[in-house]
Amino acid sequence: MITTPADIELPARPVWPALKRGLRGFCPACGKGRIFYAYLKVNDLCPHCGEELFHQRADDMPPYVTMVIVGHFVVAGVILGQDLFPDLPDWPQMIVWPVAALLMSLWLLPRVKGALIAYQWALRMHGFGPETPDDRGFVGDGF
Ligand SMILES: [Zn+2]
Repeated sequence: MITTPADIELPARPVWPALKRGLRGFCPACGKGRIFYAYLKVNDLCPHCGEELFHQRADDMPPYVTMVIVGHFVVAGVILGQDLFPDLPDWPQMIVWPVAALLMSLWLLPRVKGALIAYQWALRMHGFGPETPDDRGFVGDGF
């Protein structure tokens, strides 16, 4: 019988600790090395434990998730502002909420991206497990 990489039983990777580490921008495996070497640039390897992070395929998901979260706060804020201060002119809201949306997005985007990378790592998606071919077309760490 031939044993393939898909037959190998791998230890479980707990999702919640990995998500917490990713949210803080730390490696999902060790929690000590930084995921990013710049604002959204992912290290190929964890600088502390050497975990391969280049398998991540966060792609467009972090901006989508960030927009959904920020949009809920901003729309709720606009509606609440109009309800609480009905006599207030529109211009304060036209200044406050776009600036708030921009600042919240810039703050949240790397955290969401880190969490999504950690989620992919915990579930062994996109090359984080041995059963998936990586970018080079090889399975696992064959070399
Ligand atoms: Zn690490």
